[in-house]
Amino acid sequence: MACSGPRRMPMSFDVDLFVIGAGSGGVRAARFSAGFGARVAVAESRYLGGTCVNVGCVPKKFLVYGAHFSEDFEQASSFGWTVGKPQFDWNTLIANKNREIHRLNEVYRGLLLNSGVALHEGHARLLDKHTVEINGQRISAANILVATGSWPQVPDIPGKEFATTSNEAFFLKELPRRVLVVGGGYIAVEFASIFHGLGAQTSLLYRGDLFLRGFDHGVRQHLNEEFKKKGVDLQFKADIASIAKQADGSLQATLEDGRVLDTDCVFYATGRRPMLDNLGLENVDVALDAKGFVKVDQEYRSSEPSILALGDVIGKVQLTPVALAEGMAVARRLFRPEEYRPVDYHLIPTAVFSLPNIGTVGLTEEQAQAAGHKLKIFESRFRPMKLSLGDYHEKTMMKLIVDADSDKVLGCHMVGPDAGEIIQGIAVALRAGATKRVFDDTIGIHPTSAEEFVTLR
Ligand code: FAD
Ligand code: NDP
Repeated sequence: MACSGPRRMPMSFDVDLFVIGAGSGGVRAARFSAGFGARVAVAESRYLGGTCVNVGCVPKKFLVYGAHFSEDFEQASSFGWTVGKPQFDWNTLIANKNREIHRLNEVYRGLLLNSGVALHEGHARLLDKHTVEINGQRISAANILVATGSWPQVPDIPGKEFATTSNEAFFLKELPRRVLVVGGGYIAVEFASIFHGLGAQTSLLYRGDLFLRGFDHGVRQHLNEEFKKKGVDLQFKADIASIAKQADGSLQATLEDGRVLDTDCVFYATGRRPMLDNLGLENVDVALDAKGFVKVDQEYRSSEPSILALGDVIGKVQLTPVALAEGMAVARRLFRPEEYRPVDYHLIPTAVFSLPNIGTVGLTEEQAQAAGHKLKIFESRFRPMKLSLGDYHEKTMMKLIVDADSDKVLGCHMVGPDAGEIIQGIAVALRAGATKRVFDDTIGIHPTSAEEFVTLR
């Protein structure tokens, strides 16, 4: 296909695209737009790389790796190793994590500057539908992209100022001895695993019957059992009414049922709100949805057509690879329309980096039933081979949801080591429309856990 030239906007604007927020989605849109020949500027008020790099996916995964060592040391003895009493130093982990993230911040700076994007470090505000103010400077733009992400949301209870969120948890001065984790979503179960694995006495309080609402019931139940085996204290149908600080600096949480719990840290993971603080929305006609997220059409245009939005701030799917795909789509739509392809929101694979991990793609059994499919369910529970030399009780769980009429695999779920790594490959198969027969005809890789997915009968 002939390559067309860049779609530059009328020169009356300072830039063709002004991106507010250098996180996952903003950086992707900025870099590729500049690569397509557009004049691009980006503003970042906190940290290059956004939530994922600084207070999200990346530092979280380092902490999960760190937390898993407690089990690795214990399990090493069944392979003949004698390991002394392991000692953990929180400050070493945090310092090493900070150093790596600083390196990544500079990688992001290089990515932007090398692709010709003008970087403005500071808080950006919308002055009108074509003008942004940053560091006292006014910059006009043919298009403005709001890629400002999201922020932890803590319920309005007395003592909420004593709550710790994921933003602060990555920088705590010391590992708390006792932690109450509040919430039942991704961040709550991941951080419950982190705190527990690193040695804190950890309770998870969730307001519903069973955590991870929206995931396959079998997955939720399996993780529930595994958490209990590991000794994470799970309290469902429980919520905090207020938090108070004690004279010795520790915290006391009063639950809605009247119980009082002493702790050193109340970690809230109760969802994230769109980050629109002091953005100048009063100066433009950008409509928000009922939850306050920016409303956009299929091509990420807000109700003010020169202002677009993507990523967490539109509240569709709050995952980094989705923000990246949306950033790519915006860059193409604006500056390479002939290459534009809408983002396909079906079959988005995802992992929860709890210990053990969850990996999932496609429909849950409940969703498939609700959609009217006649189902065949294939399920397996087994002890991972690595644990079979010792007296360990952790089980891996795998589940395939198959449409009985067409034989198509509708969903694939796993709880166990490396579930995210395994499900990424399975997601490719599901996107290609794989049937159970295709799974059955695939030769396994032995001995692995993953082979179970092609031997389920
Ligand atoms: P962000 O990455 O948040 O970027 C927005 C940027 O805009 C920020 O840098 C912010 O400082 C800047 N900004 C905001 N307002 C302004 C302004 N007015 N002026 C200038 N700059 C501004 N997703 C996964 O896929 N896998 C994971 O394992 C995972 N783990 C996570 C763990 C945690 C603890 C959290 C909180 C999130 C996690 N996520 C994960 C979600 C993922 O981080 C987000 O979905 C992703 O970062 C969203 O990208 P974004 O570009 O929309 O926003
Ligand atoms: P989630 O939306 O995943 O979960 C929020 C949890 O908090 C739910 O269990 C919800 O309960 C509960 N909750 C909400 N409001 C209250 C309240 N007022 N009182 C008590 N409980 C409440 O949000 P997270 O904060 O865990 O994570 C935000 C998003 O970030 C995730 O949805 C995900 O998209 C992304 N993320 C992705 C990760 C990954 O890919 N591994 C890791 C971390 C985050 P209920 O279910 O009853 O509504």
